Amino acid sequence: MTTPICPECDAEVSIPQDAMENELISCPDCGSELEIISLNPVELELAPETEEDWGE
Ligand SMILES: [Zn+2]
Repeated sequence: MTTPICPECDAEVSIPQDAMENELISCPDCGSELEIISLNPVELELAPETEEDWGE
């Protein structure tokens, strides 16, 4: 599996092995919310910014 790159800061972002498409992860480097838009190959895209959490 290739290591995806954060589109915001170009840091390598490790994703969980059981990651799913459309899953949101945070860049460990810049903290940006990233959406996994594809798994093969892995591609990340900045997630739309949200002002509020969707509830926990
Ligand atoms: Zn980043």
